Amino acid sequence: MIDVINLKKSYGNLDVLKGITISIKEGEKVAIIGPSGSGKSTFLRCLNCMEDPTSGSIIFEGVDIADMRVDINIHRRHMGMVFQQFNLFNNKTVIENIMLAPVYIGIHDLNSKKFKNFFIRLRNIFSKEKKPLYEINTTREKIKADARENALRLLRRIGLEDKANVYPSTLSGGQKQRIAIVRALAMNPKVILFDEPTSALDPEMVGEVLDLIKQLAAEGMTLVIVTHEMGFAREIATRVLFMDEGRILEENTPDEIFSNPQNIRTKEFLSKVL
Ligand code: ATP
Ligand code: MG
Repeated sequence: MIDVINLKKSYGNLDVLKGITISIKEGEKVAIIGPSGSGKSTFLRCLNCMEDPTSGSIIFEGVDIADMRVDINIHRRHMGMVFQQFNLFNNKTVIENIMLAPVYIGIHDLNSKKFKNFFIRLRNIFSKEKKPLYEINTTREKIKADARENALRLLRRIGLEDKANVYPSTLSGGQKQRIAIVRALAMNPKVILFDEPTSALDPEMVGEVLDLIKQLAAEGMTLVIVTHEMGFAREIATRVLFMDEGRILEENTPDEIFSNPQNIRTKEFLSKVL
């Protein structure tokens, strides 16, 4: 599903990612562990091109999204992202947060079809060969109503439908993060990238967020998770990557990495965190 080939990222003369090559297959749950500053967050942000890689390729479903000529917005909508600090829009209600991207994309697609049809009509007037128009089977109102219905369904799923019309500032950290997760789900992503989704939470909120991620894992969603929760990584990951100084130094099944690490740096790191 995602093939990363020799990905490098530098900020000025600071080389943060020094050549990462990895394939992530559909349905995999990949946990990324490693010391602070090793480039884990940078790697995740490069995966969906929130950050432009300095060099290398990221082939997502057959398209190199690191290629500047590719319209990244079309591909990025299939990659959800969940951050440590939730990144909800505080000036929008919970349901508006969840509806925002689907409505934006839906209307964008609708307008672009209308725009293209306008030119096809013009062209058809002057040319013998009549090109078919794009099919338009929706309206702005329908797009909004569908997004609202889907958002309510997602809120019901996490037991927070009564919070639909409140602002994020009135929620607990665990509630905010579960909303951030269903906001990502609202786009029907093919993969979700999580950057330390529980690090900013009070300990009693961690469980509810991990439980939701576990449910997604069980449903077959492809997940890439940077985490400091080693127990969680061990429980849900199908593969664990150990990163240090901009490289993947070791990758293996959780059992092997945690019980029988091979690289000296992995051993050192695990001896500190386990
Ligand atoms: P942590 O576990 O603390 O979150 P990390 O493994 O996620 O660490 P990154 O945030 O990817 O590490 O940072 C890797 C290195 O890149 C660090 O030295 C950081 O200072 C640097 N860095 C990250 N983002 C930028 C940026 N936008 N500009 C300059 N340097 C950056
Ligand atoms: Mg980080």
